[in-house]
Formats: sequence, structure tokens, C-alpha cells
Amino acid sequence: MGDSVSPTGVDVAIVGAGPIGLCFAKALSRRGISAMLIDRQPRGAMSDPGNDGREIALTRASRDILEALDVWPRVPDAERAPMRAARVFDGESLFAMQIAPGAASDDPLACLVPNRVIRRAAYQAATATDSVGAEILWRDGREIERHETTDAGVELRLGDGESVRAELLVAADGRFSATRRSMGTPAHTFQHGQHMLVCRMQHEEPHDQSAWEWFGHGQTLALLPVSEFCSSVVLTLPPAEMEALMALSEGDFNADITRRFAHRLGPMTRAAEPHRYPLASVYAERFVGPRQALIGDAAVGMHPVTAHGFNLGLQGLWRLVSLIGEARSAGQPIASRDLLKRYQREQRLATGPLFAATMAIVGLYTDDRPPARLLRKAVLRAGSAAWPVRRLIAGHLMRAGGDR
Ligand SMILES: Cc1cc2nc3c(=O)[nH]c(=O)nc-3n(C[C@H](O)[C@H](O)[C@H](O)COP(=O)(O)OP(=O)(O)OC[C@H]3O[C@@H](n4cnc5c(N)ncnc54)[C@H](O)[C@@H]3O)c2cc1C
Repeated sequence: MGDSVSPTGVDVAIVGAGPIGLCFAKALSRRGISAMLIDRQPRGAMSDPGNDGREIALTRASRDILEALDVWPRVPDAERAPMRAARVFDGESLFAMQIAPGAASDDPLACLVPNRVIRRAAYQAATATDSVGAEILWRDGREIERHETTDAGVELRLGDGESVRAELLVAADGRFSATRRSMGTPAHTFQHGQHMLVCRMQHEEPHDQSAWEWFGHGQTLALLPVSEFCSSVVLTLPPAEMEALMALSEGDFNADITRRFAHRLGPMTRAAEPHRYPLASVYAERFVGPRQALIGDAAVGMHPVTAHGFNLGLQGLWRLVSLIGEARSAGQPIASRDLLKRYQREQRLATGPLFAATMAIVGLYTDDRPPARLLRKAVLRAGSAAWPVRRLIAGHLMRAGGDR
């Protein structure tokens, strides 16, 4: 890039210090590989992230990876809510498909942790002094202005003029990734035309530590168990209806949510500010390019209905970091074409079927025409009768991770 000042050198430059970028940097550091984290947010927003209303249902495999990265021990016990089972209802029917671990297992199906707490714990782990770790360089409040790939490496120019040379550039800047665009990587983007509201609510009746997914007509409701008398409500509505709901006074909002849940948990009252997300799913056409890779939502931005975005992102970064670590130990280049292709192949296999299944579920459950209603009743009954189907889903949630 024609600069007289010599560039800062680093093994891997990561754009995006969200939960995935932070965990990836920590995982690289643990393998003795230096990383630079570039994020447009200031450090204060990373060390003490604001509440975004998201409760992340962590699978067994994700908890294992977070444990290996020293993130899980930094999640206080009081912030871990076990989810023992999941029930799926259709319309007014009280019939539910239940997904639960086998009777022999004490382990919950998943563990709910607020996204804010995961981000904070990941930041603390990434900044902790680690005797075995390589250095993590921080470039907060900054973005990439441009980048160029050569045979020797990737050259980056940051917004403040700093030049950086890396072996590999990794985009971890979320589902609308500007880095992915600047890499020239197209992505399949699906706008669902729906908004999702998330909000913690207190209720008078206890829940049984089960998550409810409830496909009513014209709306989708979910309830995630936070503590005995508190749940996170997740409601999906068309934008105009969501607008009207958000404009209600707190009392009317409480009454509206109580009615939507058909008083099953008694009167419900708001315990935190509601947050709203326009729903879009994204699947990148390629996860890699010359000396480039996509991880987390920048590669696969899942619809939250199946609660897998972060879980899949963790698996992906673990895959990539394991390949990079093996290459470095063997004295091989860490950004070779073969290595990146292998990451892409494995991560597409792990995410493609679940992405397609999630899109099918979203399509089926947001379609209120009579044939779709009949079909979903049949699907629920088939799923409920076929214990292998339930075992498969429960097995996916509970499978141990960190297997490389
Ligand atoms: C309501 C809701 C509920 C969810 N529930 C679950 C769940 O139960 N289970 C689950 O597994 N997943 C869940 N998810 C998905 C999960 O939250 C995401 O998969 C996860 O946050 C992705 O992390 P990320 O680090 O890839 O991206 P992000 O969290 O989007 O972080 C991206 C980072 O990049 C930075 N950035 C962006 N652009 C730039 C730029 N141009 N330059 C520099 N920095 C930039 C941002 O500041 C940010 O720090 C849910 C999502 C939603 C919306």
C-alpha cells in the first residue's frame, strides 16, 4: 500500500470483537498465534456491554468450548438458567411435542445465559493475562478502510491510517458484514418481513424449566425459563403490529402479553426493557477466499427460532482454530488454500442442513393458510410419536464439543 512506516505484523487480523471474534482471538492466543481484534465499538462497550434482551440457549458442545477458552468459569452461577425440556405447541391446542434429554441424563437440554453476560465473560477471558497465550492486539473504535491480498500476506489500512500485515484476515463482523462485502463474497439474504421482540417478564405461576415454542395464528411465541417466576418472552409479529405493541403503555403491554400467552402463567409484568429485531437470515456463498475466512454470523446468520446462531458460530471458530493450530505446530502455513477449503467444507456440512431446516420451519409456521396449518399439526404429531426424531434433536443439543 506504498507506506514508508513499517506495518504492524500479526498472524490473524479479526474484524469484529463480538462474542465470536472475542472467543476466536482467545482460542488463537491459546495456541500461540497472535491476533488483532478490530471493532468499531469503544473498549467500554466491550468490557461492560449493554443489555440486548437476548438469552442464548447454549448447547453442551458450546459450554465445553467456552470452558476450554476460560469463558464459562467467568459466567456467574446466578446467570445460568437450566432448560430441562422444550415443548412445541400449535395454535390453541394443548397438545405439545416434547424434547427432553434421556431419563438417564442429569444434564439439562441447554443452559440459558444472557448474551450480555457471554460478551462480558469473553472480553474478560480475552484480556486476561495468560502465561501460555500469544499477544492479542486491540484496535477498538476503528474499522478497516481497505485491504489487499498478496502472495506474502494481507495488507490492511485502518481508518486512522495504521497499516497492518497479517497472514489471514477473518470477518467476524456480524450478519451484515461490511468485511464480507469488501472481500467480494456474495451472501444469500432472506428478509422475513417480521420483527422479533425479546423481553424478560415476571409471572405468578412457576414454569417447569421448560422452553415453550408456540405457533399461534399470525404470531409466534416462545418462553425461555430464566428463574422460577421469570421468563424471557420472545414474540414474532409483522412490523406494523410490533410497532403498535411497542407504543403501548407498560400496563397495556403487560396485559397484551398476558393475553397472548392465554394466562397460562397468570398475570405477566415487564422485568426489563423490551428489545426488537427485524428478522433476516443470511448464508454466505463462500466462507473462505485467498487468505480470508468468515466466521460467526458473518458466515451464517441463522433465524433465532432454532436458537443456534452462536452455537454454530462457536463450532466454526473451533474448527478453524484447530486447523490453524495443527498447521502451525507442523510448521505449515496457517492460511493455505487447502486449510481454508477444509474449514469451508466442514463448516458448510455442519451448518447447511440446519440452516435449511430452520428456513423450512420458519416458512411452515408463519404460513396461516389451511394446508400449512394441517401440515404443521401432522409434523408435530409425527415428531411426537417418533421418539427417534426427539432423541435426534435432544442429542444435537447435548452433544459434547471441543473434540478436535
Ligand atoms: C433475539 C435473538 C436471540 C438469539 N438467541 C440465540 C440462542 O438462543 N442461541 C444461539 O446460539 N444464538 C442465538 N442468537 C444468535 C446470536 O446472538 C448470534 O449468532 C451471535 O451474536 C453472533 O455473534 P457474532 O460475534 O458473529 O456477531 P455480532 O454479535 O453481530 O458481533 C459483531 C461485532 O462486529 C462489530 N462490527 C460490525 N461491523 C463492523 C465493522 N464494519 N468494523 C468493525 N467492527 C464491526 C460489532 O461492533 C460487533 O462487536 C440470537 C439472536 C437474536 C437476535
